[in-house]
Amino acid sequence: METDYEQVLGDAETALDQVDAALGRLADGSYGVCATCGGGIPDERLASAPTTETCGQHTA
Ligand SMILES: [Zn+2]
Repeated sequence: METDYEQVLGDAETALDQVDAALGRLADGSYGVCATCGGGIPDERLASAPTTETCGQHTA
C-alpha cells in the first residue's frame, strides 16, 4: 500500500500544534494542570505524554 504522505504530515502537524500548545501552557504557568478538573497532572503521566491537557481521570 502506498504511503499517504498528506495523512502522515497532517498527523505531524497535529502533533506540532500540541507541542506548541504545551509550550504556551508552560510559559503561562498552566502546564501540568488538567483542563477538565483543574487538578494536577501526575508527573509520570506528563513524562509519558508531555503534551496532555488532562489528568488520568479525564482522558480526552
Ligand atoms: Zn482532571
